[in-house]
Amino acid sequence: MELEQTFTQALEYGRQYISGGQVATYIPELAKADPNWLAVCAVTTDLQSYAYGNAGQKFTLQSIAKVISLILALESVGEDVVFSKVGMEPTGDPFNSIVKLEKVSTHTPYNPMINAGAISVATNIPGATLEQRFDNFLQFTRKICGNEDISLSFETYLSEKRTGDRNRALAYMMKSGGVLTGSVEEHLDLYFMICSVLATCRDIAFLGAVLANNGIHPQTGEQLVSPRHLKIVRSLMVTCGMYDASGYFATMVGLPSKSGVGGGIVSVVPNVMGIGVFGPALDERGNSIGGVKILEYLSEQLNLSMF
Ligand code: GLN
Repeated sequence: MELEQTFTQALEYGRQYISGGQVATYIPELAKADPNWLAVCAVTTDLQSYAYGNAGQKFTLQSIAKVISLILALESVGEDVVFSKVGMEPTGDPFNSIVKLEKVSTHTPYNPMINAGAISVATNIPGATLEQRFDNFLQFTRKICGNEDISLSFETYLSEKRTGDRNRALAYMMKSGGVLTGSVEEHLDLYFMICSVLATCRDIAFLGAVLANNGIHPQTGEQLVSPRHLKIVRSLMVTCGMYDASGYFATMVGLPSKSGVGGGIVSVVPNVMGIGVFGPALDERGNSIGGVKILEYLSEQLNLSMF
Protein backbone atom coordinates (compact mmCIF):
# COMPACT_ATOMS: atom_id res chain seq x y z
CA MET A 1 0.00 0.00 0.00
CA GLU A 2 2.77 2.37 0.94
CA LEU A 3 4.59 1.60 -2.28
CA GLU A 4 1.44 2.26 -4.29
CA GLN A 5 1.09 5.64 -2.65
CA THR A 6 4.70 6.51 -3.47
CA PHE A 7 4.15 5.68 -7.15
CA THR A 8 0.97 7.80 -7.25
CA GLN A 9 2.77 10.69 -5.62
CA ALA A 10 5.71 10.32 -8.00
CA LEU A 11 3.32 10.56 -10.94
CA GLU A 12 1.75 13.73 -9.60
CA TYR A 13 5.17 15.18 -8.83
CA GLY A 14 6.31 14.51 -12.41
CA ARG A 15 3.12 15.99 -13.84
CA GLN A 16 4.03 19.42 -12.50
CA TYR A 17 7.00 19.59 -14.87
CA ILE A 18 5.32 18.53 -18.12
CA SER A 19 4.50 22.06 -19.25
CA GLY A 20 8.23 22.84 -19.38
CA GLY A 21 8.82 20.23 -22.08
CA GLN A 22 7.93 19.59 -25.71
CA VAL A 23 7.23 16.51 -27.80
CA ALA A 24 9.87 15.65 -30.41
CA THR A 25 8.98 17.04 -33.81
CA TYR A 26 12.11 16.27 -35.86
CA ILE A 27 10.57 12.88 -36.59
CA PRO A 28 7.12 14.07 -37.81
CA GLU A 29 5.28 10.96 -36.58
CA LEU A 30 6.39 11.66 -32.99
CA ALA A 31 4.79 15.10 -33.08
CA LYS A 32 1.38 13.39 -32.89
CA ALA A 33 1.93 12.42 -29.24
CA ASP A 34 -0.06 14.15 -26.51
CA PRO A 35 2.40 16.04 -24.27
CA ASN A 36 0.13 15.41 -21.28
CA TRP A 37 0.52 11.65 -21.36
CA LEU A 38 2.37 10.42 -18.30
CA ALA A 39 2.82 6.97 -16.82
CA VAL A 40 4.93 4.96 -14.43
CA CYS A 41 5.11 1.16 -14.20
CA ALA A 42 7.23 -1.24 -12.22
CA VAL A 43 7.81 -4.96 -12.49
CA THR A 44 9.60 -6.59 -9.57
CA THR A 45 11.98 -9.52 -9.91
CA ASP A 46 9.28 -11.67 -8.27
CA LEU A 47 6.82 -10.50 -10.90
CA GLN A 48 4.63 -8.06 -9.06
CA SER A 49 3.40 -5.32 -11.38
CA TYR A 50 2.47 -1.73 -10.71
CA ALA A 51 0.96 0.63 -13.30
CA TYR A 52 -0.21 4.23 -12.98
CA GLY A 53 -1.30 6.93 -15.41
CA ASN A 54 -1.36 6.32 -19.18
CA ALA A 55 0.25 2.92 -18.76
CA GLY A 56 -1.56 1.32 -21.72
CA GLN A 57 -0.44 3.98 -24.20
CA LYS A 58 1.96 2.63 -26.82
CA PHE A 59 4.99 4.63 -27.87
CA THR A 60 8.04 3.85 -29.99
CA LEU A 61 11.14 2.61 -28.20
CA GLN A 62 13.44 5.03 -30.00
CA SER A 63 16.77 5.01 -28.17
CA ILE A 64 15.63 2.39 -25.66
CA ALA A 65 16.07 0.01 -28.60
CA LYS A 66 19.81 0.72 -28.28
CA VAL A 67 19.93 -1.32 -25.07
CA ILE A 68 18.10 -4.30 -26.57
CA SER A 69 20.18 -4.19 -29.72
CA LEU A 70 23.41 -4.02 -27.68
CA ILE A 71 22.37 -7.07 -25.66
CA LEU A 72 21.42 -9.00 -28.78
CA ALA A 73 24.68 -8.04 -30.50
CA LEU A 74 26.77 -9.04 -27.47
CA GLU A 75 24.95 -12.35 -27.10
CA SER A 76 25.24 -13.05 -30.84
CA VAL A 77 28.83 -12.10 -31.74
CA GLY A 78 30.55 -11.37 -28.40
CA GLU A 79 32.13 -8.28 -26.90
CA ASP A 80 35.37 -8.28 -28.91
CA VAL A 81 33.52 -7.98 -32.21
CA VAL A 82 31.01 -5.42 -30.92
CA PHE A 83 33.65 -3.18 -29.31
CA SER A 84 35.93 -3.31 -32.32
CA LYS A 85 33.49 -0.82 -33.87
CA VAL A 86 32.21 1.21 -30.94
CA GLY A 87 33.75 2.62 -27.75
CA MET A 88 32.73 2.80 -24.08
CA GLU A 89 33.12 6.50 -23.33
CA PRO A 90 30.43 9.13 -22.77
CA THR A 91 30.55 12.03 -25.22
CA GLY A 92 28.94 14.85 -23.26
CA ASP A 93 27.38 15.78 -26.60
CA PRO A 94 23.80 15.46 -27.88
CA PHE A 95 22.73 11.97 -29.02
CA ASN A 96 22.85 12.85 -32.70
CA SER A 97 26.07 14.86 -32.66
CA ILE A 98 28.71 14.31 -35.34
CA VAL A 99 31.46 16.37 -33.64
CA LYS A 100 33.41 13.61 -31.89
CA LEU A 101 32.83 11.12 -34.69
CA GLU A 102 34.69 13.41 -37.07
CA LYS A 103 37.61 13.87 -34.67
CA VAL A 104 38.49 10.19 -34.26
CA SER A 105 40.60 9.17 -37.26
CA THR A 106 38.76 5.86 -37.70
CA HIS A 107 35.35 7.53 -37.20
CA THR A 108 34.53 4.99 -34.50
CA PRO A 109 31.58 6.15 -32.37
CA TYR A 110 32.20 6.78 -28.67
CA ASN A 111 29.53 4.50 -27.18
CA PRO A 112 26.51 2.33 -28.08
CA MET A 113 23.95 4.70 -26.54
CA ILE A 114 24.30 7.53 -29.06
CA ASN A 115 22.90 7.30 -32.58
CA ALA A 116 26.22 6.63 -34.35
CA GLY A 117 27.12 3.94 -31.82
CA ALA A 118 23.75 2.25 -32.12
CA ILE A 119 23.92 2.22 -35.93
CA SER A 120 27.30 0.49 -35.61
CA VAL A 121 26.11 -1.99 -32.95
CA ALA A 122 23.02 -2.96 -34.97
CA THR A 123 25.24 -4.17 -37.82
CA ASN A 124 25.99 -7.17 -35.56
CA ILE A 125 22.39 -8.32 -35.38
CA PRO A 126 22.46 -11.60 -37.28
CA GLY A 127 20.37 -12.45 -40.35
CA ALA A 128 20.84 -12.93 -44.08
CA THR A 129 18.39 -10.19 -45.06
CA LEU A 130 17.12 -6.97 -43.55
CA GLU A 131 13.80 -8.70 -42.81
CA GLN A 132 15.53 -11.52 -40.96
CA ARG A 133 17.71 -9.15 -38.99
CA PHE A 134 14.72 -7.08 -37.94
CA ASP A 135 12.76 -10.22 -37.13
CA ASN A 136 15.59 -11.40 -34.85
CA PHE A 137 15.47 -8.07 -33.07
CA LEU A 138 11.68 -8.17 -32.78
CA GLN A 139 11.58 -11.72 -31.40
CA PHE A 140 14.26 -10.88 -28.86
CA THR A 141 12.44 -7.67 -27.87
CA ARG A 142 9.20 -9.61 -27.34
CA LYS A 143 11.03 -12.06 -25.10
CA ILE A 144 12.98 -9.54 -23.02
CA CYS A 145 9.92 -7.29 -22.61
CA GLY A 146 7.64 -10.22 -21.77
CA ASN A 147 5.09 -9.34 -24.44
CA GLU A 148 4.47 -11.41 -27.58
CA ASP A 149 2.34 -8.65 -29.14
CA ILE A 150 5.11 -6.09 -29.55
CA SER A 151 5.22 -4.87 -33.15
CA LEU A 152 6.61 -2.27 -35.53
CA SER A 153 5.07 1.14 -36.18
CA PHE A 154 5.49 1.19 -39.92
CA GLU A 155 4.44 4.85 -40.03
CA THR A 156 7.18 5.87 -37.60
CA TYR A 157 9.75 3.81 -39.50
CA LEU A 158 8.83 5.58 -42.75
CA SER A 159 8.80 8.92 -40.99
CA GLU A 160 12.34 8.32 -39.65
CA LYS A 161 13.58 7.06 -42.99
CA ARG A 162 12.21 10.11 -44.76
CA THR A 163 13.72 12.62 -42.35
CA GLY A 164 16.82 10.77 -41.08
CA ASP A 165 19.48 12.70 -42.96
CA ARG A 166 21.47 13.41 -39.85
CA ASN A 167 21.69 9.69 -39.10
CA ARG A 168 22.57 9.18 -42.77
CA ALA A 169 25.46 11.64 -42.35
CA LEU A 170 26.69 9.75 -39.26
CA ALA A 171 26.49 6.44 -41.11
CA TYR A 172 28.36 7.64 -44.21
CA MET A 173 31.03 9.18 -41.98
CA MET A 174 31.44 5.78 -40.32
CA LYS A 175 31.58 4.08 -43.70
CA SER A 176 34.40 6.40 -44.76
CA GLY A 177 36.43 5.17 -41.77
CA GLY A 178 35.63 1.51 -42.37
CA VAL A 179 33.40 1.17 -39.28
CA LEU A 180 30.45 0.31 -41.52
CA THR A 181 30.80 -1.97 -44.50
CA GLY A 182 28.19 -3.05 -47.04
CA SER A 183 24.96 -1.19 -47.70
CA VAL A 184 24.71 1.92 -45.52
CA GLU A 185 21.06 2.31 -46.44
CA GLU A 186 20.32 -1.21 -45.19
CA HIS A 187 22.10 -0.56 -41.88
CA LEU A 188 20.09 2.64 -41.52
CA ASP A 189 16.85 0.85 -42.36
CA LEU A 190 17.47 -1.64 -39.58
CA TYR A 191 18.28 1.18 -37.16
CA PHE A 192 15.13 3.13 -38.11
CA MET A 193 13.05 -0.03 -37.71
CA ILE A 194 14.36 -0.97 -34.27
CA CYS A 195 13.73 2.62 -33.10
CA SER A 196 10.15 2.34 -34.39
CA VAL A 197 9.08 -0.69 -32.37
CA LEU A 198 6.00 0.03 -30.26
CA ALA A 199 5.95 -0.73 -26.55
CA THR A 200 4.20 0.32 -23.37
CA CYS A 201 5.57 1.52 -20.11
CA ARG A 202 4.98 -1.97 -18.70
CA ASP A 203 7.00 -3.56 -21.50
CA ILE A 204 10.05 -1.45 -20.75
CA ALA A 205 9.59 -2.01 -17.00
CA PHE A 206 9.78 -5.75 -17.78
CA LEU A 207 13.01 -5.18 -19.71
CA GLY A 208 14.28 -3.38 -16.61
CA ALA A 209 13.21 -6.32 -14.46
CA VAL A 210 15.28 -8.74 -16.56
CA LEU A 211 18.30 -6.46 -16.16
CA ALA A 212 17.54 -6.19 -12.42
CA ASN A 213 17.20 -9.96 -12.16
CA ASN A 214 20.79 -10.70 -13.23
CA GLY A 215 19.77 -11.08 -16.87
CA ILE A 216 17.30 -13.86 -16.10
CA HIS A 217 13.74 -13.73 -17.42
CA PRO A 218 11.71 -13.63 -14.18
CA GLN A 219 8.93 -15.81 -15.62
CA THR A 220 10.73 -18.50 -17.62
CA GLY A 221 14.06 -18.51 -15.78
CA GLU A 222 15.90 -18.22 -19.10
CA GLN A 223 19.27 -16.45 -18.96
CA LEU A 224 18.76 -13.77 -21.63
CA VAL A 225 21.85 -11.74 -20.77
CA SER A 226 25.06 -13.37 -19.56
CA PRO A 227 26.54 -11.97 -16.32
CA ARG A 228 29.49 -10.49 -18.22
CA HIS A 229 27.26 -8.75 -20.79
CA LEU A 230 24.89 -7.58 -18.06
CA LYS A 231 27.77 -5.78 -16.37
CA ILE A 232 28.74 -4.11 -19.66
CA VAL A 233 25.18 -3.04 -20.50
CA ARG A 234 24.31 -1.70 -17.04
CA SER A 235 27.60 0.25 -16.87
CA LEU A 236 27.02 1.86 -20.24
CA MET A 237 23.47 2.75 -19.21
CA VAL A 238 24.83 4.57 -16.16
CA THR A 239 27.58 6.43 -18.00
CA CYS A 240 25.87 7.12 -21.34
CA GLY A 241 22.17 6.14 -21.16
CA MET A 242 20.73 9.61 -20.60
CA TYR A 243 22.92 11.27 -23.26
CA ASP A 244 24.54 14.51 -22.14
CA ALA A 245 22.48 14.46 -18.95
CA SER A 246 23.99 11.15 -17.80
CA GLY A 247 26.13 12.77 -15.09
CA TYR A 248 23.19 14.73 -13.68
CA PHE A 249 20.99 11.67 -13.80
CA ALA A 250 23.55 9.41 -12.11
CA THR A 251 23.82 11.98 -9.33
CA MET A 252 20.09 12.62 -8.89
CA VAL A 253 18.69 9.13 -9.57
CA GLY A 254 21.66 6.77 -9.52
CA LEU A 255 20.20 3.88 -11.54
CA PRO A 256 21.23 2.33 -14.89
CA SER A 257 18.70 3.89 -17.26
CA LYS A 258 17.99 4.53 -20.92
CA SER A 259 15.75 7.15 -22.44
CA GLY A 260 14.22 7.54 -25.89
CA VAL A 261 12.73 10.52 -27.71
CA GLY A 262 9.39 8.70 -27.80
CA GLY A 263 9.20 9.64 -24.12
CA GLY A 264 10.10 6.34 -22.47
CA ILE A 265 12.79 5.73 -19.86
CA VAL A 266 13.73 2.31 -18.49
CA SER A 267 15.48 2.15 -15.13
CA VAL A 268 17.04 -0.82 -13.38
CA VAL A 269 16.98 -1.27 -9.60
CA PRO A 270 19.41 -4.20 -9.26
CA ASN A 271 17.89 -7.28 -7.58
CA VAL A 272 14.61 -5.44 -6.95
CA MET A 273 12.69 -4.23 -10.02
CA GLY A 274 12.55 -2.57 -13.39
CA ILE A 275 10.84 0.79 -13.66
CA GLY A 276 9.35 2.17 -16.87
CA VAL A 277 8.23 5.75 -17.18
CA PHE A 278 6.60 7.41 -20.15
CA GLY A 279 5.93 11.05 -20.94
CA PRO A 280 6.48 12.38 -24.47
CA ALA A 281 7.13 15.98 -23.39
CA LEU A 282 10.94 16.13 -23.50
CA ASP A 283 13.53 18.40 -21.94
CA GLU A 284 16.19 20.10 -24.08
CA ARG A 285 18.42 17.00 -23.95
CA GLY A 286 15.70 14.73 -25.36
CA ASN A 287 14.78 13.03 -22.07
CA SER A 288 11.17 12.81 -20.84
CA ILE A 289 10.85 15.84 -18.58
CA GLY A 290 8.12 14.37 -16.36
CA GLY A 291 9.73 10.93 -16.51
CA VAL A 292 13.05 12.17 -15.14
CA LYS A 293 11.22 13.90 -12.28
CA ILE A 294 9.23 10.74 -11.48
CA LEU A 295 12.49 8.80 -11.24
CA GLU A 296 14.10 11.48 -9.09
CA TYR A 297 11.13 11.31 -6.73
CA LEU A 298 11.15 7.51 -6.54
CA SER A 299 14.91 7.36 -6.04
CA GLU A 300 14.73 9.86 -3.21
CA GLN A 301 11.67 8.41 -1.46
CA LEU A 302 12.65 4.75 -1.79
CA ASN A 303 16.38 5.31 -1.43
CA LEU A 304 17.10 3.56 -4.72
CA SER A 305 20.41 5.10 -5.79
CA MET A 306 23.19 2.57 -6.32
CA PHE A 307 25.78 5.06 -5.14
N1 GLN B 1 15.32 7.33 -33.79
C1 GLN B 1 15.86 8.43 -33.07
C2 GLN B 1 16.95 9.10 -33.87
O1 GLN B 1 17.63 8.44 -34.56
C3 GLN B 1 16.37 7.97 -31.74
C4 GLN B 1 16.96 9.08 -30.91
C5 GLN B 1 16.60 9.06 -29.47
O2 GLN B 1 15.68 8.40 -28.99
N2 GLN B 1 17.31 9.86 -28.74
O3 GLN B 1 17.14 10.29 -33.84
